[in-house]
Amino acid sequence: SPTAPPILSNGHFASIGAEGDAALYEHGVQVIDENKEFNPNLSKYLSLENVTSAGFNYHLISVFGSQSTGKSTLLNQLFGTEFSVMSELERRQTTKGIWMSNNKKQGEPGAAERMADNILVMDVEGTDGRERGEDQDFERKSALFALATSEVLIVNIWEHQVGLYQGANMGLLKTVFEVNLQLFLKDKHTTHRSLLFFVIRDFIGNTPLKNLQKTLLEDLSRLWDTISKPAGLEKSTIHDYFDFQFYGLPHKGYQPDQFVTEAKKLGLRFREGHRDPKRDALKGEFSEGGVFLPEYHRRIPADGFAHYAEGIWDQIVNNKDLDLPTQQELLAQFRCDEILREVMTGFDEAIVGFEDKQAESVRLGAPEVLGGLGAAMRAARAKTLKSFETEASRYHKGVYQRKSAELQGKVDTRLKALFHGQLSAAHKSGIQDFSDSVTAAVKDGQKKGGSYDFAEIVTKEAQSSLEKFEEVARSTLVDGASWSNYKQELSLYKKDLAEVSARLRRDEMRRLATRVERWVQSRLGESVGLEFNALGSGRAGGGAPENGEKPTEKDFWDRIWNLFEDTVLDAERRFTDRASSFDASIDEVDVGLWRLRRKSWGVLRAKIEEEMIEGNLLLKLRENFEDKFRYDEAGVPRIWRPTDDIEGIYTRARESTLTLIPLLSRFRLERTGGPPPLDRWIGHTPSTATPADEEDLAPIGGVDEDEGKSLEEEMTILSDTKRQELTVRFKKTADGVYVEAKRSAIGGMTQ
Ligand code: GDP
Ligand code: MG
Repeated sequence: SPTAPPILSNGHFASIGAEGDAALYEHGVQVIDENKEFNPNLSKYLSLENVTSAGFNYHLISVFGSQSTGKSTLLNQLFGTEFSVMSELERRQTTKGIWMSNNKKQGEPGAAERMADNILVMDVEGTDGRERGEDQDFERKSALFALATSEVLIVNIWEHQVGLYQGANMGLLKTVFEVNLQLFLKDKHTTHRSLLFFVIRDFIGNTPLKNLQKTLLEDLSRLWDTISKPAGLEKSTIHDYFDFQFYGLPHKGYQPDQFVTEAKKLGLRFREGHRDPKRDALKGEFSEGGVFLPEYHRRIPADGFAHYAEGIWDQIVNNKDLDLPTQQELLAQFRCDEILREVMTGFDEAIVGFEDKQAESVRLGAPEVLGGLGAAMRAARAKTLKSFETEASRYHKGVYQRKSAELQGKVDTRLKALFHGQLSAAHKSGIQDFSDSVTAAVKDGQKKGGSYDFAEIVTKEAQSSLEKFEEVARSTLVDGASWSNYKQELSLYKKDLAEVSARLRRDEMRRLATRVERWVQSRLGESVGLEFNALGSGRAGGGAPENGEKPTEKDFWDRIWNLFEDTVLDAERRFTDRASSFDASIDEVDVGLWRLRRKSWGVLRAKIEEEMIEGNLLLKLRENFEDKFRYDEAGVPRIWRPTDDIEGIYTRARESTLTLIPLLSRFRLERTGGPPPLDRWIGHTPSTATPADEEDLAPIGGVDEDEGKSLEEEMTILSDTKRQELTVRFKKTADGVYVEAKRSAIGGMTQ
């Protein structure tokens, strides 16, 4: 005998928590209780019964009929359910309400004749309120609920009641017809048909089933005529909305074996079927296969059924107009939202890790190219959209499409951000790597002796950098996403590469310029130094004699200028050769040469100043004087004798050396009588020179006119004061030498 159903004493539903509570559902689940409350555990029951994921592959049957006509007994026999059956001894009415159970006799897969999958059976209790004098409220409400959800309504009827037009069953059927029309009023566009399956109980067989059928159908048509129909549906017939089938079952008590056999045959009718237009519906033989025609199905996906049923019941119980299309749309919104959240959870699991990592690397200012991002994005997008489609497309098309677009928007917004973050990281690190590897290659080249091809290095590194960028971009593409292209980013990358290349080339130009300047410095240091040393010999001419003439002190500056011009010309040639090898532009070379000339002048000027430090100069003048005083024209040292014109020789030598002071005071060419043409020689500032190019350049008098210093002043090596001081000091030195000579002449005598 049945155990107590899962209802608490206060009449409220027990909250079913943990799984494994299957025992609580031994008798199925009470969808609606006697207080007309909907059971919130319905969806749990459907999951426990593995129906939730069935999509449309499930069926709903409701049974109707007077109290105690063996309905529950029949369902238990047909479907192996355990609905409560009135005890023979107590004859007490079982609990009012609507119960549901999954078919426990689901057929063997692949069997030739098997029951359909996932048949959910609803046992509607206490539908004959009129028999007990109760109000018909529950009868009406449960009929409405059953019609809104079920494909097949089993009408259970005693054979002896057939033809009793005034019987309780007729009242019930009238209610069914009325609520059906009520539903149709709102749901005109759906093909909404149901099967009324009459099971005639205690069928003896004296009257053929066909005759009973005919009687019943006539009664039903009469009944149909009596109900008031909404405008436009006055001419409709029951056959517009219902199909009929009939089955006679023998008395369970008197013919138990036949009852079991017939019940088994009847059970096999609950298979998938299709309409056969050639057959006559009136004969109850209109369908091939089983009773479940596709057109009966209410098209509520299994995973949405519990929510839908609850919504329907809520409308019914509150006496609101039951509007199925609206209910279906509401269900679609609810379920699509739920499914959207579900698939987004999966999406988050796959993607959030990347998002966090990317944000963190940006925060640290070191954007990182994330490995495996593309594959993860592609997989997550495809899986998320596909899962949503699979689950949600069963619901209301319009709602589904809207939610699908919403989902795609969400997914794509996030993937797009990741994609651009990845490109941005690839851009930043790529450009940095490019710059670093060019610099490293140049350093390497310098270490190996300085012979490297800068242009080749830049071309090679730029090419490889571009390839790497494109590889990252390509591998991060997400097929099917409108934003998934990197044309613009690629062109930006190329532009930046070109800019950085130009900057690196300018750096290389600077390095080259520095090298060449150093070369100028060392060359001038040597050759100019020699010229100054030659001054000390008093016979001038460290440099090669020009035109075979003996170099003189007078053309000292001409020789310095010539040395300078030759050296810088040589340097310019070196600079130009090298710079053009790495594709420097004509403008860049022009600026480089201009800078070189200016810097070289600085080098020369510094060298001259060094030689002209007072101590150095005084030493040179003394050497020059001594050379002229102590040696004769043939270069033979003089031995002073008292008879010698020591004074005359001294005066001539001293005067000769003194002429050097004004000569050295100014950089002046003997051949022109003026300063060297430094301004012309340096030339105009190239129009393409940038402020950076001029920044580290010392101003040059007569060249940079706005400096307020003339060329004359630039060429002044010693000021007048310095000249006078030098003259005085030189004379004292010369005097000392003279006194010493005089003494030695006298000393020579005494010896
Ligand atoms: P329900 O109220 O319609 O669900 O009826 P139950 O299934 O609870 O059965 C009510 C009574 O009818 C029980 O005492 C059953 O034993 C009895 N019963 C069940 N099947 C048959 C049948 O085929 N013929 C007759 N006469 N009684 C039956
Ligand atoms: Mg019952």
